[in-house]
Amino acid sequence: MAKSEKLNFQTEVKQLLNLMIHSLYSNKEIAIRELISNASDATDKLRFEALDNDKLYEGDSDLKVIVDFDSKANTLTITDNGIGMDRDDLVNNLGTIARSGTKEFLANMSGDNKKDANLIGQFGVGFYSSFIIAKEVTVQTRKAGNPQAYSWSSQADGEFTINEIEKESRGTSVILKLKDDEKEFIDAWRLQSIIRKYSDHISIPIQMYKTDMKKDELVKLEELETINNTNAIWTRAKSEIKQKEYEEFYKSLSYDSEEPLAYYHNRVEGKTEYTSLLYLPKKAPFDLYDRENNNSIKLYVRKVFVMDANEKLIPQYLRFVKGVIDSQDLSLNVSREILQDSPLVDSIKSGVTKRVLSSLQTMSEKEPEKYQSFWSEFGKVLKEGPAEDFANKESIAKLLRFASSNTDEQSVSFESYIKKMPKDQESIYYITADSHQAAKNSPHLEIFKQKNIEVLLLSDRVDEWLVSSLHEFDGKKLQSIAKGDLDLGKLDTEEQKAEKEKIEKEAKSIVEKIKKSLGDKVKEVKVTHRLTNSPACLVVGEHDISGNLERILKAAGQSTPENKPILEVNPNHELIKKLEKIEENQLFNDYSSVILDQAILAEGGQLDDPIGYVNKVNKFLI
Ligand code: ADP
Ligand code: MG
Repeated sequence: MAKSEKLNFQTEVKQLLNLMIHSLYSNKEIAIRELISNASDATDKLRFEALDNDKLYEGDSDLKVIVDFDSKANTLTITDNGIGMDRDDLVNNLGTIARSGTKEFLANMSGDNKKDANLIGQFGVGFYSSFIIAKEVTVQTRKAGNPQAYSWSSQADGEFTINEIEKESRGTSVILKLKDDEKEFIDAWRLQSIIRKYSDHISIPIQMYKTDMKKDELVKLEELETINNTNAIWTRAKSEIKQKEYEEFYKSLSYDSEEPLAYYHNRVEGKTEYTSLLYLPKKAPFDLYDRENNNSIKLYVRKVFVMDANEKLIPQYLRFVKGVIDSQDLSLNVSREILQDSPLVDSIKSGVTKRVLSSLQTMSEKEPEKYQSFWSEFGKVLKEGPAEDFANKESIAKLLRFASSNTDEQSVSFESYIKKMPKDQESIYYITADSHQAAKNSPHLEIFKQKNIEVLLLSDRVDEWLVSSLHEFDGKKLQSIAKGDLDLGKLDTEEQKAEKEKIEKEAKSIVEKIKKSLGDKVKEVKVTHRLTNSPACLVVGEHDISGNLERILKAAGQSTPENKPILEVNPNHELIKKLEKIEENQLFNDYSSVILDQAILAEGGQLDDPIGYVNKVNKFLI
């Protein structure tokens, strides 16, 4: 007696199946797309394993996928002669979801059928989508090199059955018993168009039986024909490829429902030869910030898919780029380890990186609006660049865009900033803060507003890392306006400098009194030249980390260097003038302490003793 067992789906799978059946019915074609893609993956896997052991072919190395239907039985069958599955594979692959991705998938469900259907592909829960159109799915499969075959079947009711069966041919047949209202898929023409739409780039043939009209009846012939264009799009001449084809290929590659923002198709000849077809998506994917998990670039070797090779072929800060790289020179059985330290791969990576950066540069010059929309989706990722890629720092820096004291939109480049600089300005001024609003309203900006000098407002988290690795642009120093002594260089006239000295002298005694009162809560108290409206602000030493970075690090649970702020006070402000008239007693101490606390708050910082602050202020208010 052949063995038969009944097993339960993992809880997540049950949830997922429920979703498939009850809510994801808007784009049913994806079920067929997913099954063909699995069949094609299975032949890729076999080819890969057979590199070391060609017995696995069992004499049949002519890899292909056959799509067939039976209008009487109302079934649709997708057959491949790929790697196949044994019993454990069936349980593990078609009974559970190994990846943590599913949880995320469920969390990302928007309730919008169309969007959610697109998520299916991204999360790799493809097989289960067959239940969108099928009431029962049967998988008959025999693993290469293994004599025993199995069938798996389920009606998506919480359990599945596995039986030992007889099956001579290697590989897998997935048989969909279609729901009564899904008969539209029993149609040769419809199936052909789906195959062309989604599978043109698949490099093995996807075949169907030919049909013929005989006495008004469509009869299936024994003869197979190949439906897809197995001529991988990137290997064709650019001039022969229509924009629509590029776009369809992108969609099948990325599971994006939108057209790409731009694409670049390039053949590199010379010492290393490769073809790249790279796409910029319109919208950032949900997992853009997941640095571990991006499979954006597919590596082919002479048209044969080898692996998802992401960061080996493209730097992390360009991980939003999707596409294909096809190398002429690599060996077919490259492993991840070999990719790790192959000079060939390094040279491809460096070529591809330069190519993407220069394409972005061209877009920014020729299509600034398009570039702006690219920037708003992917700018934060590109900002990781200068820290990661020393060699291309300059070209990356040219691509960066910032908000500034003149505009809320991140649209100012270093170049346009420099162009607008007054002739006597020597540095590029910026401020970092944890929100655009905080940066925009920072007291540090006061003097710059008065002098009409533009300041870049950096409020993305990554900005702190950016400025820690990018110190200048085109010979101009990047200068934080909240660090060190404010030196406006030639922007101050001699008279203004003399005036500053005078103010400092006059305020010397009040400054000393405040320092005495605050004790070691601050490193130093100084007269400010930054403020026009506020009584005080905090600055850090030229080489200390900024208050903003200190807060980011603390929030991430990292220790930070003991970094006491410098308090700068504005002797022209009423509050400081008032302080000059108060004697050094408890009231003076309360005033000083409130001024310091307010400077901390204005920066977006947190008080050590918020209640103490509130009590003091209340005393003044009564
Ligand atoms: P993914 O393809 O993203 O891994 P799927 O849900 O589409 O996710 O498939 C789950 C797994 O089932 C695959 O990874 C593969 O191991 C296995 N599988 C599905 N279809 C086939 C097939 N035709 N031949 C061999 N294995 C398959
Ligand atoms: Mg799949």
